Amino acid sequence: MKMVEAPDGHIGEGFFATSFEKVIGLARANSLWPLPFATSCCGIEFMATMASTYDLARFGAERPSFSPRQSDLLMVMGTIAKKMGPIVRQVYEQMAEPRWVIAVGACASSGGIFDTYSVLQGIDRVVPVDVYVPGCPPRPEQILEGILHIQELAKNEGLRRRNSPQYQALLESYNIK
Ligand code: SF4
Repeated sequence: MKMVEAPDGHIGEGFFATSFEKVIGLARANSLWPLPFATSCCGIEFMATMASTYDLARFGAERPSFSPRQSDLLMVMGTIAKKMGPIVRQVYEQMAEPRWVIAVGACASSGGIFDTYSVLQGIDRVVPVDVYVPGCPPRPEQILEGILHIQELAKNEGLRRRNSPQYQALLESYNIK
């Protein structure tokens, strides 16, 4: 049974050779451990995404983690009040590298319809975001597409990217050590 596409490499009779980086990328992309940070309605869509019809397990990401230390994909789903901003950031800081972030739905991406004094106008005010999923709420298919984009990022990310000056500068712009 063919589960995932093999990375680019050299195929011959009885052997397949590729680079270490591509194998690591393949493993990371197909074994994401999401941390569902669900605060409101978009979280319900995530539950549907996990359930049998959409079945997130097909993409190797069926193991939700409620400990930031054992997760590599922060999924923020729902309205984030400004008071919660520091909590989102603390969760992000506790995650080990490599880590990715999806803002699921309009509220997490931009504050959504809540253009008010109390709501954070997008989680990218407090943590860097890799993928934004639009919609109010987004359908499970859209959430799955967001995860597929994260898989592409994970698959193609160089092993040294997290040590690069550009990445360090990104974290410094958020005042994250
Ligand atoms: S984007 Fe819409 S569905 Fe999602 S949390 Fe905000 S109000 Fe609810």
